[in-house]
Amino acid sequence: MDVTRDTPLTDFPGVGEARAKKLEKLGLTSAGDLLTWYPRDYEDRRRIYGIQEAPLEGRVCVAAMAAEHPRLSRIRKGLELVQVRVVDNTGALHLTFFNQSYVERAIRAGEEYIFFGAVEVQGRRRTMVNPIFERADRQSFTGCIMPVYRLTAGISNHLLAALVRQALPCAEGLPETLPQHVRQARRLAAAEFSVKNIHFPEDEEALDLARRRLVFEELFYLAVGLSFLKDRRDREGAGLPVPPQPAEEFLSLLPFTPTGAQRRVMDEVAADMADSRRPMNRLVQGDVGSGKTAVAACAGWLCAKGGCQGALMAPTEVLAGQHYKSLSALLASSGVRVGLLTGSMTAAEKKKTRAALAAGEIDFVVGTHALISEGVAFHKLALIVADEQHRFGVAQRAALAAKSGEEVTPHVLVMSATPIPRTLALMIYGDLDVSVIDQLPPGRTPISTYVVREDKRQRMYNFVRKQVAEGRQAYIICPAVEENPDAALPGEESPALNLKAVKTYAEKLQREVFPDLRLGILHGKMKPREKETAMAAFASGQTQVLVATTVVEVGVDVPNASLIIIENADRFGLSQLHQLRGRVGRGQHPSHCVLITGTRSLEAMERLHTLASTTDGFKISEEDLRVRGPGDFFGNRQHGLPQMKLADLAGDMRLLSEAQEAARELLAEDPRLTAPENRPVWERVRRLFADTPDIFN
Ligand code: ADP
Ligand code: MG
Repeated sequence: MDVTRDTPLTDFPGVGEARAKKLEKLGLTSAGDLLTWYPRDYEDRRRIYGIQEAPLEGRVCVAAMAAEHPRLSRIRKGLELVQVRVVDNTGALHLTFFNQSYVERAIRAGEEYIFFGAVEVQGRRRTMVNPIFERADRQSFTGCIMPVYRLTAGISNHLLAALVRQALPCAEGLPETLPQHVRQARRLAAAEFSVKNIHFPEDEEALDLARRRLVFEELFYLAVGLSFLKDRRDREGAGLPVPPQPAEEFLSLLPFTPTGAQRRVMDEVAADMADSRRPMNRLVQGDVGSGKTAVAACAGWLCAKGGCQGALMAPTEVLAGQHYKSLSALLASSGVRVGLLTGSMTAAEKKKTRAALAAGEIDFVVGTHALISEGVAFHKLALIVADEQHRFGVAQRAALAAKSGEEVTPHVLVMSATPIPRTLALMIYGDLDVSVIDQLPPGRTPISTYVVREDKRQRMYNFVRKQVAEGRQAYIICPAVEENPDAALPGEESPALNLKAVKTYAEKLQREVFPDLRLGILHGKMKPREKETAMAAFASGQTQVLVATTVVEVGVDVPNASLIIIENADRFGLSQLHQLRGRVGRGQHPSHCVLITGTRSLEAMERLHTLASTTDGFKISEEDLRVRGPGDFFGNRQHGLPQMKLADLAGDMRLLSEAQEAARELLAEDPRLTAPENRPVWERVRRLFADTPDIFN
């Protein structure tokens, strides 16, 4: 078959209508698509063993000859066995294939094969179940480093690898998309070499070279695109200057004296917004409980005083509701009108709020993502605050600016408890300033954290009772069972939540353990009104114990709560546990966090003890990054950047800086990429940012 990059997959032998459909689900329709379907992992199948020397660990390749004709037997309906004995000069190996009757014909007595599978010892026999095999004189998936692909039902890794193999010849003479000097200066491998070796690397070194080039390439296009976005922002010019106000006036509204760190950040924000040359673009990093809300309130207040509007976006409805309540209460006496807009409000309510926003009758609106996704029109929007929403980056700001069709770009304030490495922050948020709230409000007693086993359950319940008797409140957190990590962003309610687990647990607690206490329940599948009621009941102290899922993870603030119990704590990531723990220790009372676990894994225990030994969010986040990799935070496209195929934004930090530097150099020479040799770059960037087409205007 002569393959070009446009050859449809239906032309490939063995790909019928049905398989083509399934491949299409993965976004694969042509040979060219296969080339960029990069492996997610590799399996080293280079070493070929004799039968006796083959290790009994993991899957390995064994070379052997079929000593007999395979025997097919039907055990019962739906269960067929093929068995065959294979030999070499060291011994015999007994193979069993389940429900693969074709093997009876595929293996011939007297022929040599390579079998890939796990060798086991049963009695005195060496055995292998369901190995992959091929003839020793026609090796293509053994004796090599084998790619492991992301799959879909009905498409095996073997099939996909075979298709990629057949498609690889069309990488021949693949046009170079990276400018020559960029590639040379950084000693990056050629396109053709890289594509071939990312799929079927000759050795580790070739794989490293291939990966380095392809990751660099991705990051390079990303950097160029982001640079266009930033450029656009600069050309759009200024934000609405918000005149400074006497700080004392705002501070007198607060029920507490702000910390020095809060004061400093408030001043920085005020100065940014007063600057008429360019809009604010500031990231405020502060650990859980450091008091970021007060900074947001200050920014909103300044805006309102200056006759403009501000918007605060929260990641969950629960948090939006809470911010709405506390901000209305805080700002009411100063005449600032606060509004609420969330996706689950009734159509009539939404309509009313939208009209009020358009008419300028609301000064500071609090909402969820609905605020930008539903194209809300503002009267005079000057400020966007994104609370705990890491995805609000350059791309979102551009989308928003495009939507509002305004001449001005809003000031942006992003607030996060997650320490984001600076290079990455710069990348995601563009040219940005960072403020750090590195001080906790005074009078906080550190939270004591305990890791406990099931056998302490009764004592723990007694502890809940004791806290409640002292007038305090407690959270009991259950993990959502069967959570699908792709279905929801962290901080959002998980749709696949197993309701029954939480509900039955809460009912059981009420009935059998705490018949005399007032228990509440809160989970993602409740109606927004029910959630609101549950949250309000807990905030006011009406319910004493709140049994909840991770919907309370970020931001929720009930200072009287002094105890949080986390069930199955080993199922959570460290940063997530830290966020959850941050729900207590928000007032004057000594607070406690109890991590319950039944895990047998030493590593999991070690992680939990790390959390117990420190309350430093930066340390915890570093540790989390080390053991779990960045997937937790960056894996879900929280940042809103285009999807990367190979690059790992946090893990490939060095290459990221290099790619940024290369992008800067290129754009310095050819800002609009109009030179013919730079057209391929322009093309690729355009495709990468297809969701944000307006950046190329
Ligand atoms: P986070 O940074 O996690 O968003 P919050 O803004 O929710 O923190 O503040 C946590 C709690 O601390 C709230 O109850 C808030 O009222 C209180 N708080 C914030 N700043 C101070 C302060 N300077 N002094 C005393 N309490 C404060
Ligand atoms: Mg907060």
